[in-house]
Amino acid sequence: MAESENMFLRAKHRTFSGLTEDAEREWKGPFCFIQAADPQLGLMKAWRDGDCDGGGDEWAEEVELTKQAVEAVNQLRPRPRFMVLCGDLVHAMPDTPFRDGQERDLKAALKGTDPSIPLVFVSGNHDLGNTPTPGTVEQYCNAWGDDYFSFWVGGVLCLVLNSQLFYDASACPQLKEAQETWLEAQLSRASSSSSTEPKPKHVLVFQHIPLYLESPDEEEQYFNLQMVVRQNLLDRFKKAGVKAVFSGHYHRNAGGCHGGLDMVVSSAIGCQLGDDTHGVRVVVVTADGVIHRYHSLDQLRAQGMDEDLRKLLQA
Ligand SMILES: [Zn+2]
Repeated sequence: MAESENMFLRAKHRTFSGLTEDAEREWKGPFCFIQAADPQLGLMKAWRDGDCDGGGDEWAEEVELTKQAVEAVNQLRPRPRFMVLCGDLVHAMPDTPFRDGQERDLKAALKGTDPSIPLVFVSGNHDLGNTPTPGTVEQYCNAWGDDYFSFWVGGVLCLVLNSQLFYDASACPQLKEAQETWLEAQLSRASSSSSTEPKPKHVLVFQHIPLYLESPDEEEQYFNLQMVVRQNLLDRFKKAGVKAVFSGHYHRNAGGCHGGLDMVVSSAIGCQLGDDTHGVRVVVVTADGVIHRYHSLDQLRAQGMDEDLRKLLQA
Protein backbone atom coordinates (compact mmCIF):
# COMPACT_ATOMS: atom_id res chain seq x y z
CA MET A 1 0.00 0.00 0.00
CA ALA A 2 2.64 2.49 1.03
CA GLU A 3 4.32 2.01 -2.30
CA SER A 4 1.31 2.87 -4.41
CA GLU A 5 0.34 5.70 -2.12
CA ASN A 6 2.78 8.04 -3.79
CA MET A 7 1.02 8.10 -7.13
CA PHE A 8 -2.25 9.06 -5.55
CA LEU A 9 -0.94 11.81 -3.37
CA ARG A 10 -0.96 13.86 -6.52
CA ALA A 11 -4.68 14.27 -6.49
CA LYS A 12 -4.64 15.45 -2.92
CA HIS A 13 -2.70 18.56 -3.80
CA ARG A 14 -4.85 21.40 -4.94
CA THR A 15 -2.19 22.38 -7.45
CA PHE A 16 -0.85 20.24 -10.25
CA SER A 17 1.76 17.58 -9.66
CA GLY A 18 5.38 18.52 -9.64
CA LEU A 19 4.78 21.87 -11.28
CA THR A 20 4.39 25.18 -9.57
CA GLU A 21 0.96 26.60 -10.03
CA ASP A 22 2.38 29.80 -11.51
CA ALA A 23 4.16 28.03 -14.35
CA GLU A 24 0.95 26.27 -15.34
CA ARG A 25 -1.09 29.47 -15.49
CA GLU A 26 0.59 30.46 -18.70
CA TRP A 27 -0.69 29.43 -22.13
CA LYS A 28 2.14 27.77 -24.04
CA GLY A 29 0.27 26.35 -27.02
CA PRO A 30 -2.04 23.42 -27.78
CA PHE A 31 -1.97 20.30 -25.65
CA CYS A 32 -4.04 17.17 -25.13
CA PHE A 33 -5.38 15.23 -22.18
CA ILE A 34 -7.41 12.07 -21.64
CA GLN A 35 -10.87 12.01 -20.14
CA ALA A 36 -12.23 8.63 -19.06
CA ALA A 37 -15.02 7.43 -16.81
CA ASP A 38 -16.52 4.49 -14.98
CA PRO A 39 -13.91 1.78 -14.75
CA GLN A 40 -16.40 0.72 -12.05
CA LEU A 41 -14.73 -2.53 -11.09
CA GLY A 42 -17.40 -5.18 -10.48
CA LEU A 43 -20.28 -3.85 -12.62
CA MET A 44 -19.78 -6.06 -15.68
CA LYS A 45 -20.53 -9.29 -13.88
CA ALA A 46 -23.18 -7.73 -11.66
CA TRP A 47 -24.92 -6.39 -14.78
CA ARG A 48 -24.80 -9.78 -16.51
CA ASP A 49 -26.19 -11.42 -13.38
CA GLY A 50 -28.93 -8.81 -13.14
CA ASP A 51 -27.87 -7.93 -9.61
CA CYS A 52 -26.45 -4.40 -9.68
CA ASP A 53 -27.37 -3.59 -6.09
CA GLY A 54 -25.56 -6.58 -4.70
CA GLY A 55 -23.24 -8.63 -6.85
CA GLY A 56 -19.94 -7.31 -8.09
CA ASP A 57 -17.95 -10.17 -6.69
CA GLU A 58 -15.65 -10.39 -9.74
CA TRP A 59 -13.79 -7.60 -11.50
CA ALA A 60 -10.98 -9.17 -13.51
CA GLU A 61 -12.47 -7.89 -16.80
CA GLU A 62 -12.46 -4.27 -15.66
CA VAL A 63 -8.91 -4.62 -14.36
CA GLU A 64 -7.83 -5.86 -17.79
CA LEU A 65 -9.65 -3.01 -19.57
CA THR A 66 -8.09 -0.44 -17.25
CA LYS A 67 -4.66 -1.86 -18.00
CA GLN A 68 -5.40 -1.63 -21.74
CA ALA A 69 -6.42 2.00 -21.31
CA VAL A 70 -3.21 2.76 -19.42
CA GLU A 71 -1.11 1.05 -22.07
CA ALA A 72 -2.82 2.97 -24.90
CA VAL A 73 -2.50 6.30 -23.12
CA ASN A 74 1.17 5.73 -22.30
CA GLN A 75 1.94 5.28 -26.01
CA LEU A 76 0.40 8.56 -27.15
CA ARG A 77 2.63 11.24 -28.63
CA PRO A 78 2.59 14.02 -27.83
CA ARG A 79 1.99 12.84 -24.30
CA PRO A 80 -1.30 13.78 -22.66
CA ARG A 81 -0.78 16.37 -19.95
CA PHE A 82 -3.01 14.39 -17.57
CA MET A 83 -5.67 11.69 -17.43
CA VAL A 84 -8.90 12.38 -15.55
CA LEU A 85 -11.19 9.56 -14.40
CA CYS A 86 -14.69 11.00 -14.05
CA GLY A 87 -16.02 8.82 -11.29
CA ASP A 88 -17.39 5.45 -10.43
CA LEU A 89 -13.92 4.15 -9.93
CA VAL A 90 -15.36 1.03 -8.33
CA HIS A 91 -18.82 -0.56 -8.21
CA ALA A 92 -19.02 -1.57 -4.54
CA MET A 93 -20.69 1.16 -2.51
CA PRO A 94 -18.93 2.40 0.66
CA ASP A 95 -18.89 -0.14 3.50
CA THR A 96 -19.91 -3.10 1.31
CA PRO A 97 -18.00 -6.39 1.01
CA PHE A 98 -15.92 -6.01 -2.19
CA ARG A 99 -14.99 -2.38 -1.76
CA ASP A 100 -11.44 -2.77 -0.47
CA GLY A 101 -10.47 -5.39 -3.02
CA GLN A 102 -11.81 -3.34 -5.91
CA GLU A 103 -10.03 -0.17 -4.79
CA ARG A 104 -6.79 -2.07 -4.26
CA ASP A 105 -6.93 -3.68 -7.71
CA LEU A 106 -7.82 -0.44 -9.48
CA LYS A 107 -4.84 1.28 -7.89
CA ALA A 108 -2.63 -1.60 -8.96
CA ALA A 109 -3.93 -1.40 -12.56
CA LEU A 110 -3.36 2.35 -12.71
CA LYS A 111 0.11 2.05 -11.33
CA GLY A 112 1.41 1.38 -14.83
CA THR A 113 0.50 4.91 -15.91
CA ASP A 114 3.57 6.79 -17.09
CA PRO A 115 4.72 8.98 -14.19
CA SER A 116 4.72 12.03 -16.48
CA ILE A 117 0.92 11.70 -16.89
CA PRO A 118 -0.72 12.72 -13.61
CA LEU A 119 -4.00 11.05 -12.70
CA VAL A 120 -6.92 13.19 -11.63
CA PHE A 121 -9.77 11.46 -9.77
CA VAL A 122 -13.40 12.55 -9.71
CA SER A 123 -15.90 11.04 -7.26
CA GLY A 124 -18.98 9.16 -8.51
CA ASN A 125 -22.15 7.94 -6.84
CA HIS A 126 -20.68 4.49 -6.35
CA ASP A 127 -17.56 5.97 -4.78
CA LEU A 128 -19.52 8.07 -2.28
CA GLY A 129 -22.90 6.36 -2.03
CA ASN A 130 -26.05 7.77 -3.64
CA THR A 131 -26.68 9.75 -0.47
CA PRO A 132 -23.17 10.62 0.72
CA THR A 133 -22.40 11.19 4.39
CA PRO A 134 -19.43 12.97 6.00
CA GLY A 135 -18.07 9.47 6.65
CA THR A 136 -18.26 8.22 3.05
CA VAL A 137 -16.80 11.46 1.72
CA GLU A 138 -13.92 11.15 4.17
CA GLN A 139 -13.30 7.55 3.09
CA TYR A 140 -13.18 8.66 -0.53
CA CYS A 141 -10.77 11.51 0.22
CA ASN A 142 -8.48 9.15 2.11
CA ALA A 143 -8.43 6.71 -0.78
CA TRP A 144 -8.36 9.02 -3.82
CA GLY A 145 -7.77 12.62 -2.79
CA ASP A 146 -9.97 15.69 -2.43
CA ASP A 147 -13.55 15.36 -3.67
CA TYR A 148 -13.41 18.87 -5.16
CA PHE A 149 -10.42 20.96 -6.15
CA SER A 150 -9.02 23.06 -8.95
CA PHE A 151 -5.81 22.97 -10.92
CA TRP A 152 -4.16 24.85 -13.75
CA VAL A 153 -2.62 23.20 -16.74
CA GLY A 154 -1.02 25.14 -19.60
CA GLY A 155 -3.12 28.26 -19.01
CA VAL A 156 -6.39 26.39 -18.52
CA LEU A 157 -8.29 26.37 -15.23
CA CYS A 158 -9.82 22.98 -14.38
CA LEU A 159 -12.49 22.52 -11.72
CA VAL A 160 -13.15 19.06 -10.31
CA LEU A 161 -16.56 18.85 -8.62
CA ASN A 162 -18.38 16.42 -6.36
CA SER A 163 -21.69 16.04 -8.24
CA GLN A 164 -23.15 13.84 -5.50
CA LEU A 165 -23.41 16.98 -3.36
CA PHE A 166 -25.63 18.44 -6.12
CA TYR A 167 -27.65 15.23 -6.41
CA ASP A 168 -28.46 14.46 -2.78
CA ALA A 169 -26.78 16.26 0.10
CA SER A 170 -29.52 15.46 2.61
CA ALA A 171 -27.04 13.62 4.85
CA CYS A 172 -24.21 16.16 4.53
CA PRO A 173 -25.67 19.67 4.04
CA GLN A 174 -22.56 21.36 5.41
CA LEU A 175 -20.34 19.70 2.83
CA LYS A 176 -22.68 20.89 0.11
CA GLU A 177 -22.51 24.42 1.50
CA ALA A 178 -18.72 24.32 1.61
CA GLN A 179 -18.44 23.19 -2.01
CA GLU A 180 -20.92 25.90 -3.06
CA THR A 181 -18.90 28.64 -1.37
CA TRP A 182 -15.69 27.34 -2.88
CA LEU A 183 -17.26 26.97 -6.35
CA GLU A 184 -18.61 30.49 -6.30
CA ALA A 185 -15.14 31.83 -5.51
CA GLN A 186 -13.60 29.74 -8.29
CA LEU A 187 -16.14 30.89 -10.86
CA SER A 188 -15.73 34.55 -10.04
CA ARG A 189 -11.97 34.10 -10.14
CA ALA A 190 -12.33 32.53 -13.58
CA SER A 191 -14.28 35.40 -15.06
CA SER A 192 -12.32 38.34 -13.65
CA SER A 193 -8.73 39.10 -14.43
CA SER A 194 -6.39 41.06 -12.20
CA SER A 195 -2.77 42.09 -12.37
CA THR A 196 -1.73 39.17 -10.19
CA GLU A 197 -4.03 36.61 -11.75
CA PRO A 198 -4.23 36.22 -15.54
CA LYS A 199 -7.51 35.17 -17.05
CA PRO A 200 -7.54 31.48 -17.97
CA LYS A 201 -7.44 30.63 -21.68
CA HIS A 202 -10.33 28.23 -21.02
CA VAL A 203 -12.25 26.96 -18.00
CA LEU A 204 -13.17 23.26 -17.87
CA VAL A 205 -15.33 21.35 -15.38
CA PHE A 206 -15.11 17.65 -14.48
CA GLN A 207 -17.90 15.89 -12.60
CA HIS A 208 -19.48 12.45 -12.54
CA ILE A 209 -23.18 13.10 -13.21
CA PRO A 210 -23.96 14.99 -16.44
CA LEU A 211 -25.98 18.20 -16.20
CA TYR A 212 -28.00 16.75 -19.08
CA LEU A 213 -27.61 13.94 -21.59
CA GLU A 214 -28.77 15.65 -24.76
CA SER A 215 -30.69 18.82 -24.10
CA PRO A 216 -30.70 21.30 -21.18
CA ASP A 217 -34.50 21.07 -20.88
CA GLU A 218 -34.84 17.27 -20.95
CA GLU A 219 -36.72 15.57 -18.15
CA GLU A 220 -35.03 14.50 -14.96
CA GLN A 221 -33.94 10.88 -14.70
CA TYR A 222 -31.36 8.68 -13.02
CA PHE A 223 -28.57 9.71 -15.38
CA ASN A 224 -28.87 13.54 -15.27
CA LEU A 225 -29.09 16.24 -12.61
CA GLN A 226 -32.38 17.60 -11.34
CA MET A 227 -33.83 20.50 -13.35
CA VAL A 228 -33.41 23.25 -10.74
CA VAL A 229 -29.84 22.22 -9.90
CA ARG A 230 -28.99 21.84 -13.58
CA GLN A 231 -30.32 25.27 -14.55
CA ASN A 232 -28.53 26.93 -11.67
CA LEU A 233 -25.19 25.37 -12.63
CA LEU A 234 -25.68 26.05 -16.34
CA ASP A 235 -26.30 29.74 -15.66
CA ARG A 236 -23.30 30.08 -13.40
CA PHE A 237 -20.97 28.09 -15.66
CA LYS A 238 -21.96 30.13 -18.72
CA LYS A 239 -21.55 33.41 -16.86
CA ALA A 240 -18.05 32.36 -15.82
CA GLY A 241 -17.18 31.35 -19.38
CA VAL A 242 -16.87 27.61 -18.75
CA LYS A 243 -16.22 26.03 -22.14
CA ALA A 244 -16.99 22.38 -21.42
CA VAL A 245 -18.28 20.08 -18.70
CA PHE A 246 -16.91 16.52 -18.87
CA SER A 247 -18.81 13.68 -17.22
CA GLY A 248 -19.50 9.94 -17.18
CA HIS A 249 -22.17 7.98 -15.27
CA TYR A 250 -24.23 7.16 -18.40
CA HIS A 251 -22.02 4.33 -19.71
CA ARG A 252 -22.80 5.62 -23.22
CA ASN A 253 -21.53 8.57 -25.23
CA ALA A 254 -23.92 11.50 -25.28
CA GLY A 255 -24.01 15.24 -24.67
CA GLY A 256 -24.40 18.35 -26.77
CA CYS A 257 -23.33 21.96 -27.09
CA HIS A 258 -25.96 24.53 -26.09
CA GLY A 259 -25.45 28.25 -25.65
CA GLY A 260 -21.70 27.99 -25.97
CA LEU A 261 -21.29 25.32 -23.29
CA ASP A 262 -20.30 21.82 -24.38
CA MET A 263 -21.79 19.08 -22.17
CA VAL A 264 -19.61 16.04 -22.78
CA VAL A 265 -20.86 12.62 -21.64
CA SER A 266 -18.30 9.86 -22.13
CA SER A 267 -18.90 6.14 -22.12
CA ALA A 268 -17.08 3.80 -19.77
CA ILE A 269 -13.74 2.08 -19.63
CA GLY A 270 -15.75 -0.71 -17.99
CA CYS A 271 -19.35 -1.86 -18.47
CA GLN A 272 -21.21 -0.59 -21.57
CA LEU A 273 -24.94 0.02 -21.20
CA GLY A 274 -25.37 0.96 -24.87
CA ASP A 275 -23.64 0.22 -28.17
CA ASP A 276 -20.38 2.02 -27.49
CA THR A 277 -17.03 0.33 -27.11
CA HIS A 278 -14.79 0.33 -24.05
CA GLY A 279 -12.82 3.52 -24.51
CA VAL A 280 -11.52 6.89 -23.44
CA ARG A 281 -11.86 10.39 -24.82
CA VAL A 282 -8.93 12.27 -26.31
CA VAL A 283 -9.28 16.01 -25.71
CA VAL A 284 -7.23 18.59 -27.61
CA VAL A 285 -7.08 22.10 -26.22
CA THR A 286 -6.15 24.84 -28.69
CA ALA A 287 -6.16 28.62 -28.31
CA ASP A 288 -9.57 28.73 -29.97
CA GLY A 289 -11.35 25.80 -28.44
CA VAL A 290 -11.61 22.34 -26.98
CA ILE A 291 -11.96 19.48 -29.47
CA HIS A 292 -12.60 15.94 -28.29
CA ARG A 293 -13.30 12.48 -29.62
CA TYR A 294 -14.04 9.16 -27.98
CA HIS A 295 -11.62 6.40 -29.05
CA SER A 296 -12.10 2.69 -28.46
CA LEU A 297 -9.28 1.12 -26.47
CA ASP A 298 -8.44 -1.14 -29.42
CA GLN A 299 -8.26 1.76 -31.84
CA LEU A 300 -6.17 3.87 -29.52
CA ARG A 301 -3.75 1.04 -28.84
CA ALA A 302 -3.33 0.16 -32.51
CA GLN A 303 -3.33 3.58 -34.15
CA GLY A 304 -3.04 6.25 -31.49
CA MET A 305 -5.28 9.30 -31.67
CA ASP A 306 -7.01 10.30 -34.90
CA GLU A 307 -4.85 12.06 -37.45
CA ASP A 308 -6.84 15.31 -37.46
CA LEU A 309 -6.48 15.62 -33.69
CA ARG A 310 -2.75 15.03 -33.96
CA LYS A 311 -2.54 17.80 -36.57
CA LEU A 312 -4.18 20.28 -34.24
CA LEU A 313 -1.41 19.64 -31.74
CA GLN A 314 1.31 20.39 -34.26
CA ALA A 315 0.01 23.88 -34.92
ZN1 LIG B 1 -22.47 6.57 -11.75
